[in-house]
Amino acid sequence: MIKDIKGLHHVTSMASDARQNNRFFTDTLGLRRVKQTVNFDDPSVYHLYYGDENGSAGTVMTYFPFEQMMRGRAGVGEVGETQFSVPKGTLAFWRERLVAQNAAGLQEDTVFGAKRLRFNGPDGDGFALIESADDERLPWTGNGISADTAIRGFSGARLNLHDTAATEELLGFMGYQKAEKEGDVTRFIIPGGNGADTIDLAALPQTPFARQGAGSVHHIAFAVENREKQLEVRKALMDTGYQVTPVIDRDYFWAIYFRTPGGVLFEIATNEPGFNRDEDTAHLGEVLKLPTRYEPFRDRIEANLEPLAA
Ligand code: ZN
Repeated sequence: MIKDIKGLHHVTSMASDARQNNRFFTDTLGLRRVKQTVNFDDPSVYHLYYGDENGSAGTVMTYFPFEQMMRGRAGVGEVGETQFSVPKGTLAFWRERLVAQNAAGLQEDTVFGAKRLRFNGPDGDGFALIESADDERLPWTGNGISADTAIRGFSGARLNLHDTAATEELLGFMGYQKAEKEGDVTRFIIPGGNGADTIDLAALPQTPFARQGAGSVHHIAFAVENREKQLEVRKALMDTGYQVTPVIDRDYFWAIYFRTPGGVLFEIATNEPGFNRDEDTAHLGEVLKLPTRYEPFRDRIEANLEPLAA
């Protein structure tokens, strides 16, 4: 069994409009844009990262905004809900703020004993704010949201699956422990994680498979401390029969990917080197950063991208 996974690292989704996406995550949700770069496989598209002050693992929501992309259709084989952690007693504040921003899909309930406010992102993305009394992570507060209400990072994510058995086995192998079951949803928790510690598996045998598009999660990444641990995890997964990609340099972390039996794309990403490797922490995300191989084409790439601020 793998013992080096520390919870989530980041969640990467697709959007249809870079400016709208940037506004929603910085102004409405109050996250910090910790990096603006491009899709390393397609530099005509931004890659935007939002998180806490440093873009700590377990806080980072990332987006590929493909302009005019068609909306995805929700279904099984994907992440159905990305869950952020907020302090206890703050859901009323958040509901009011989201209503003021015309957010869709607002719905309040309780999940595994915690209060939850579900809402949709600008492309119909499935999100929830979940209250926690003991999340001690320091929030980013640069956007007019005080420290006692701000988002702490992810609490976890819910995967919508046709059948959960094989994914349950995989999560167990990755070090997650099966906790409670509530209706169709089974919760898994990683011991000793970074705060983004839960994965919920929803069994939805009657639901059709998702069609990916704007508002869909492209992949979900789990954190390991460093490259050495990543290689150990890669070997363990491959020895168990998973087809894992070689290690890929993403400039701010190292990544490996594998498709899980339920259809969701998993990534294992390193906490090193981090988002301050090419700019000062005080100025993260302010200017477009490019991987070295694209620097010679900076003028053309910049001309092709819509500026984020109007
Ligand atoms: Zn990723």
